[in-house]
Amino acid sequence: MDALTAGLAIIAVQLCMALAMGGIYLVDRNRAAGAQYWACAEILIAAGVAGFLYDAGAGRLWILSLSNNAIVWGAVFQLWGIRTFYGHPRGYDAWVIGGLFFVLHTLVLTQPHVPPRIALFSGTMMTMVCISFATAWRGNAGQSTLGAWLVLGALGTMLFNNASRITMVAMGTAELKPMTQSVWAVFVMYLIPLVGMVLYSVGLILLYFERSIKEQRHLATHDGLTGLLNRSALLAAGEREIAIALRYGRPLSVALVDIDHFKRINDQMGHQVGDAVLVEISRLLSFTCRQGDLIGRYGGEEFCIIFPGVNASECEMLGKRLLETVRQYRYLDQHPVTVSAGFATLEAGQVPDSWNTLLKRADEQLYRAKDYGRDAFFVAYGRTNPDQAESRPAPASLSRNGTTATC
Ligand code: GH3
Ligand code: MG
Ligand code: MG
Repeated sequence: MDALTAGLAIIAVQLCMALAMGGIYLVDRNRAAGAQYWACAEILIAAGVAGFLYDAGAGRLWILSLSNNAIVWGAVFQLWGIRTFYGHPRGYDAWVIGGLFFVLHTLVLTQPHVPPRIALFSGTMMTMVCISFATAWRGNAGQSTLGAWLVLGALGTMLFNNASRITMVAMGTAELKPMTQSVWAVFVMYLIPLVGMVLYSVGLILLYFERSIKEQRHLATHDGLTGLLNRSALLAAGEREIAIALRYGRPLSVALVDIDHFKRINDQMGHQVGDAVLVEISRLLSFTCRQGDLIGRYGGEEFCIIFPGVNASECEMLGKRLLETVRQYRYLDQHPVTVSAGFATLEAGQVPDSWNTLLKRADEQLYRAKDYGRDAFFVAYGRTNPDQAESRPAPASLSRNGTTATC
């Protein structure tokens, strides 16, 4: 392949990718933050290559200057894009590197020797690529996704490409002029960068889709206000945990927790304060539960917690801890708030419950706690006979405000 064909291929690919990036940005600005810089980068790189082809080896200095600067500033825009995508500020370092390149390149441009120009260009590109690599590496920390690996692989390819240019120039093994006839030079100057740029653009588009799908999944399974599991995710988790408990003969407990007199908080303080209290209570409940417990917002001011491996007597301890934690809390730093709870357990060897019956039994205990006067909890013990549901009051140690909870 000759330099002209390879150069035209780069321009075509860059412009197509610019269209894709620009389109993604226009459709979904929040999640695709940074794509606008990537689109500009692709256009600048295409313009730089177009400049080389237009010059057609004539060596007009102003065209070479414009072309090289366009490509370096394309790398600057790529860096800004990846920083913006990961929520970092654009930073001033890229301005400095781009500006320094312009000055130094103008100085070496008038010299008859080509190698210093190539070394300066490749050295600047390597610096930009290294910074982009570090940003992408940090941004993807802990996430091994195809998009992340493609981006890192593409940046690695560009690094290797620029390092080989410098090596080739230093060793004088190939003539790295834009309109070179050498197959090796076409390979190093056009084809490897083309592969690197395609991988990079595809990787960035994949990163966007991975982020988008992850957020959509999260929205489908989590409550928007508290960030806890939503009702349908709780149902799925509950059915799965019951199946596991039955298979391995492990106990399982479920709690329904309801904020007491929450309507009063809304009426007296406004819905915004009510929302803040909901978020705080959900945070307190999550904080009090162990890792592995599944906590969700069942609806309104009602929460549901699934405790895998927890039996009825442990529920009594848990209930005490949950209620006590909420009792210590003051919203707007002064007003107390309490919750009531109902627990139901599925013990090994007892009649298996479905998710709905387990929840119904927890709900009955929640009603008892409310009838009892609130700021209390009751535990329904597992059934030994389908027609007989046994429930016991919370023990004396779980008293409410010093009053023994009896039923
Ligand atoms: P009880 O002790 O019997 O549970 O009384 P309550 O006032 O907590 O219960 P009730 O069912 O009478 O009122 C629940 C209130 O919760 C009514 C509703 O406006 C409010 N609520 C439900 N969802 C939200 C929400 O997302 N934000 C806010 N601020 N309020 C909510
Ligand atoms: Mg309530
Ligand atoms: Mg309620």
